[in-house]
Amino acid sequence: MSHERVIYLDNNATTQVAPEVVAAMLPFFGDRYGNPSSMHNFGGEVAHHLAQAREKVAALLGATPGELIFTSCGTESDNTAIMSALRSQPGKKHIITTRVEHPAVLNFCQNLSERGHDVTFLPVDRGGNLDPDKLREAIREDTALVSIMWANNETGVVFPVEELAAICNRRGVLFHTDAVQAVGKIPINLAESKIDMLSLSGHKLHAPKGIGVLYVRKGTPFVPYIMGGHQERGRRAGTENAPYIVGLGKACELAAQRMVEENSRVKALRDRLEAGLLKIEATILNGDKQRRLPNTCSISFEYIEGESILLHLSSRGVCASSGSACTSGSLEPSHVLRAMGVPYTAAHGSIRFSLSVYNTEEEIDYVLEHMPGVIEKLRAISPFWSQFKKTGAACLTGYMEP
Ligand SMILES: *Cc1c(COP(=O)(O)O)cnc(C)c1O
Repeated sequence: MSHERVIYLDNNATTQVAPEVVAAMLPFFGDRYGNPSSMHNFGGEVAHHLAQAREKVAALLGATPGELIFTSCGTESDNTAIMSALRSQPGKKHIITTRVEHPAVLNFCQNLSERGHDVTFLPVDRGGNLDPDKLREAIREDTALVSIMWANNETGVVFPVEELAAICNRRGVLFHTDAVQAVGKIPINLAESKIDMLSLSGHKLHAPKGIGVLYVRKGTPFVPYIMGGHQERGRRAGTENAPYIVGLGKACELAAQRMVEENSRVKALRDRLEAGLLKIEATILNGDKQRRLPNTCSISFEYIEGESILLHLSSRGVCASSGSACTSGSLEPSHVLRAMGVPYTAAHGSIRFSLSVYNTEEEIDYVLEHMPGVIEKLRAISPFWSQFKKTGAACLTGYMEP
């Protein structure tokens, strides 16, 4: 293990646990080990802290504490929302989602479609945007749920979920949003929206891995996914993960305080990184430039492999991620870039940089200093690049099938 410094630009994959969050959690690994369901004061003390944490999460979302269910992760929240919509409306078999969801929604829906449910996967345009009319047209009598993410984890593109939720509300269809990438980065006020269910995950906002929340609007039909004890008002059984819930409460409190900073300072850093990288020849920004999270940029470096770029960056202490998924040994461009119709040679060379409040000017300078050399080195050994330079062809294989 090297202890050289790390420049962490992979915050959409996971984030550093905030030191304040660690400090808030520690007592619950120590003397405060009571079970919040116990009758004695020793457990009751813990229950009191959990109630406080619940209020902090509710405040960040514009929700009421009773509308929140603590879960084990974002994936559990997503799965629970979809299962609940199907089980609470047994006659309805149709689900609408998009082609660019996180696997926590996408793979679950694919599995449901193999088991007799009807799933519509809405397309996106070249900028990763969704046309609300496509949703209007897809809604049917038997639609049980529409599940559409708030912000995309790969491109940062933000969907107009409040508008989409209002469309569903008028048609009497439940609406769920995977807001894992949006919470803490853009303002959310559920009291002012028609969103019925929302998922979030602790480790994407400086709380630990292994804690999530499902918001279920008061009055929304709900059937639990995990059954057993009466915890979470019978909506999610299992003894509460007290340290992590307290940690998530602290993380949400910090996010509320830092939201303005995340929106301005982090966005300025991201914009500077982006502008600098796009000066390199044959680069493309993936995703709508305006309707985007403040911390994310996905850039394609044409005619080279994203994985090679990552290895070179990694050896210089820089962490980012690529737009390919290493499935069964073959490097397939991600389903998100494919759905957007990103040219083949660009999708393969895509890199996602995702920042956090812990990043500095100096770190961005470092990346901007090293990147041109890395790209030049890799292109020097790329047959596609030399062919491109010879023929001037804008793209070798045209646009990909979504
Ligand atoms: C990370 C992520 C998830 C999954 O959250 P986990 O807590 O890791 O299960 C779901 N959706 C999106 C958009 C994510 O980025």
